[in-house]
Amino acid sequence: MTQEPHVTDRSDAPSSRGFDRRTVLRGAALGAASPLIPATAAMASATAGRGRGSRGAAGCVSFRWLGTAGWRIDVGDRTVLFDPYLTRFTTGLFDGAFDPRTRLETRPRVVDAHIGRAELVLVSHSHWDHLADVPHIARTTGARVVGTETTYHLLVALGVDPGQISVVRGGEVLDFGGITVEVVPSLHSRNKKCAYFAPGTLNAPPATVPSTISDLPEGDTLAFQVMAGDSGPSAFLMGASDFSERAVRGLRPDLAMIAVPSSTATHRYVPRLLRALDTPGVVVPVHWDNFEVPLTGSPARDPAMDLDAFLAQVEKVSPATRVVTPDYHTVYDDDMLPQQ
Ligand SMILES: [Zn+2]
Repeated sequence: MTQEPHVTDRSDAPSSRGFDRRTVLRGAALGAASPLIPATAAMASATAGRGRGSRGAAGCVSFRWLGTAGWRIDVGDRTVLFDPYLTRFTTGLFDGAFDPRTRLETRPRVVDAHIGRAELVLVSHSHWDHLADVPHIARTTGARVVGTETTYHLLVALGVDPGQISVVRGGEVLDFGGITVEVVPSLHSRNKKCAYFAPGTLNAPPATVPSTISDLPEGDTLAFQVMAGDSGPSAFLMGASDFSERAVRGLRPDLAMIAVPSSTATHRYVPRLLRALDTPGVVVPVHWDNFEVPLTGSPARDPAMDLDAFLAQVEKVSPATRVVTPDYHTVYDDDMLPQQ
């Protein structure tokens, strides 16, 4: 069942709640003498934090990496997908023979094996490695899709019911009744493989039904922060490796799923992002795998992405952050520890 979102009071936004919870937890860690918050309030609020009572409110939360930038997040029996791209068809991108006229393709059996009963699909931008499987998912599950106007026009042209799609711009805080989604205005990466491929936005339906990857322009790029229950956990989700520093400041997620950059075009990408997010407790690198091989076995690295350099920068900027390099077949709990 898909629920209609509505915009919540700003005082109820994940960012403000996240701030309170993390400040409280830090205050509690510092002891009763912490000047941040009175000890009694710290204790009361800390017990409402993740792992100390909130799981009951939020239900059991789990995370599955879908490869590329994609995630499946389960909150109790409810499923949220982010940039689910599972068909992983070949464009030649990883073979030095990239063909922008590659036809769009969805393999239903491959997709359906990973998506559960999705009720919500969040889309960062409209490139094929984020959007190509969304029409199938939307049509077969009835899930609500949240994305840009460009995403809207493309999906409608591909047969998705317009009433199923929530167009957002960034800044919205959507309340799905137990799952809160904050939409974050963001930026696409600038690199030779993606930045200048099929740029542009759509403010009207495309002239023809999209049939090749070139027919899926970026549109604008969004990030999302998903919060389970009233007090978390909260996860920041990126689909491309750039960001607006001012837009992410104050989000303070518990977990940050960060796209690994393929170039140094963005000035001080890792330190600026981690500090703007207030050095999350857990960082998970994404979009570093070869997304044109099946989602089996161990992830093959995209040679354009320097995952090791990224990991080293996170360690240097935020030594207390736990970095979890995900694999395809593990179900992680809300601390990104493997679930048994
Ligand atoms: Zn892209």
